[in-house]
Amino acid sequence: MHVSVIIAAGGRGRRLGAPVPKQLLLVGGRPILQRTVEAFLASERVEQVVVVAPPELVTDPPRYLRVPRVSVVAGGERRQDSVANGFDALPADTEVVLVHDAARPFVDAALIERTIAAAAETGAAIAALPASDTVKHAAAGDDGGAMGRFVERTLPREAIFLAQTPQGFRREVLRAAIALGRAGAEGTDEAALAEKAGHRVRLVEGSRRNIKITTADDLVVAEAIVDRPEENQPGRRPACALRVGSGYDLHRLVEGRPLVLGGVTIPFERGLAGHSDADVLAHAVTDAILGGAALGDIGQHFPDTDPRWKGASSLDLLVRVATLARERGFRVVNVDATVVAERPKLGPYRDAITTRLAEALCLPRDAVSVKAKTNEGVDATGRGEAMAVHAVVLLQQ
Ligand code: MG
Repeated sequence: MHVSVIIAAGGRGRRLGAPVPKQLLLVGGRPILQRTVEAFLASERVEQVVVVAPPELVTDPPRYLRVPRVSVVAGGERRQDSVANGFDALPADTEVVLVHDAARPFVDAALIERTIAAAAETGAAIAALPASDTVKHAAAGDDGGAMGRFVERTLPREAIFLAQTPQGFRREVLRAAIALGRAGAEGTDEAALAEKAGHRVRLVEGSRRNIKITTADDLVVAEAIVDRPEENQPGRRPACALRVGSGYDLHRLVEGRPLVLGGVTIPFERGLAGHSDADVLAHAVTDAILGGAALGDIGQHFPDTDPRWKGASSLDLLVRVATLARERGFRVVNVDATVVAERPKLGPYRDAITTRLAEALCLPRDAVSVKAKTNEGVDATGRGEAMAVHAVVLLQQ
């Protein structure tokens, strides 16, 4: 059976007060949307994941959306319009479609499987939880406000279920629901439109962990969920994996160039030769981060044949790589670098260099160490013909 997923990530949901849409906030160091997409990619049943996203994400998708089995399309005005756009982008052979909120990153393989099976069997099925609180039906308030109203009656709790996602449909059922929406019907979820289209919707057992992250408090709960290793789902990486990366670089010392180390220009009669500002220290740290995250090397990302990087500030390139690593869920914990140079003495500049590197990596000063060594007059570095740097970084995933 061919199963595809539409992930509704079109909302701008800035309720959390963050400068980015809520689905791009980090939980346990990884964007919420990335966690959600990867939860579905971990299921072998899922052939295609269609992410319905804000326009800026469609024109420049993050790396985790530029992978096989994932496509990105632009969202619409309302959620139902976004899902309709996603529906239009489904592979032709899709038989069962799951619709899922981007803000529910803790959907697990068993829940996905239950929803697919029930949707295939009955045509429409949604994950839902029985109400655990007593449910009150309130009379309409005078001012329309939510509070200060009176209870009209108490609903029988056994009959109350709270809808989650995924919501699963045979393709023709979702098509009918969407057609109703396009004809003017409104629904806060796809099941509501399917009900209006005359289909019976079956309930499958949801999951208490499958929370929708909409408030700052939800973010706290989400962090607690990823911090519990026993709660990690099969197919996901451990929440607190550590990775180490090493970097090495060497540049020749020549006349007529400035000497830039860690973004700090150091007065000296010679400087480092190179296509960019030849900041050998920034290059080694950049390569260490790329190495730890297994994202290639500096030459791949900033080739010296590309005129964009001619004369570039290597500290800017370091910031770019740290951002890239962060998007992939890696946080730099600390940096330790050793500069091998016969001259000049770096002691007077060490504080400034450490500060610049720490700022570039959003790290506290005491998480960055820069040491200096001479090479005892041996080899090219010892003769003062070149400067080399060894660096290691620790990354947390
Ligand atoms: Mg270099």
